[in-house]
Amino acid sequence: MSLDFEEEKLFAELKKRKPKRILIQLPEGIKTKALDLQEKIEKLGIEVIFSGETAWGGCCISINEAKKFDCDLIVHFGHAQFIKSDFPILYIEMKDVLDLEPILKKSLASLKKYKKIGLSYSVQHMHDSDKIIDFYKKNGHEVILSGKKGFAAYPGHVIGCEYSGLKEIQTKVDAFVIIGNRFHSVGAALAVQKPVFLVDVYNDEVSDMEEFKEKLIRQRAISIDKLKQAKSVGIVMEMKPGQRFGSPKDLIKKFERADKKVILISMNEISIDKIANFYNIDAFVELACLRIAVDDFKKYPKPILTYREALVALGEKSWEDFLNEGVV
Ligand code: SF4
Repeated sequence: MSLDFEEEKLFAELKKRKPKRILIQLPEGIKTKALDLQEKIEKLGIEVIFSGETAWGGCCISINEAKKFDCDLIVHFGHAQFIKSDFPILYIEMKDVLDLEPILKKSLASLKKYKKIGLSYSVQHMHDSDKIIDFYKKNGHEVILSGKKGFAAYPGHVIGCEYSGLKEIQTKVDAFVIIGNRFHSVGAALAVQKPVFLVDVYNDEVSDMEEFKEKLIRQRAISIDKLKQAKSVGIVMEMKPGQRFGSPKDLIKKFERADKKVILISMNEISIDKIANFYNIDAFVELACLRIAVDDFKKYPKPILTYREALVALGEKSWEDFLNEGVV
């Protein structure tokens, strides 16, 4: 596999926008490309600062950092546009250059029973979407792309916190195929009521997500039960401009009515150590990336839940509605 940094687009935009100093955000796996990028960009007479902060998603936009260091543009690699801001941001999505044919062929055995396929992919595979659709059509499937809804930037685009485009088409398809990695397919499986198959282009595997989904749902039920028992609750918000899932004010009132003590906590980024410092708090509800609670809960010393899970614990939403609407 090779990664296409979309240098043509990058340099065309830099020449057009003429920034003096830029803050570059690279996803975790490719921070090692910093030296190469700097060498090329400095040739345009532009100063470069690399953010050492995490850039898990398009929501992680370091506007405060850019302002602090007098940057006049943020260049964010690896994700599609997620937020609009007055501060100039250039999203460079990047492309994974792969030969998908062998793994697509492998997926046909798992998809035999399913005529109509709902298709989604992470943005790095969007440039291959026509080839993927043609492949499945030639092999007897109908293909419907997930809708461009909410934070999704394109039809077929999937991100870890936005599955409304998949939910929108789920009555029209027999199963979903997610081209990409485990993270997106776990979310998809939790979001929809149809079988979800991961076509894992990085590990050359095709996986049915059903068993994993069932396990995660049981774990979410345990966390919800623990929040019901909690006497004190911390509501945690992150400073990232693209994140705010649920209203803290609304939650405070509801927890107080349920006779729980509640505090509001802000963090640049939620971490196990920072949560552990509030060791006298029984449970936490995070209003940041909902995948922190759903995927990483085991790493935390106390139960950590999403906004919608908190509503279930508070009796504001039934468990059945929660599942029907999708866990994420
Ligand atoms: S909120 Fe989470 S899932 Fe959504 S873009 Fe940000 S890191 Fe990804």
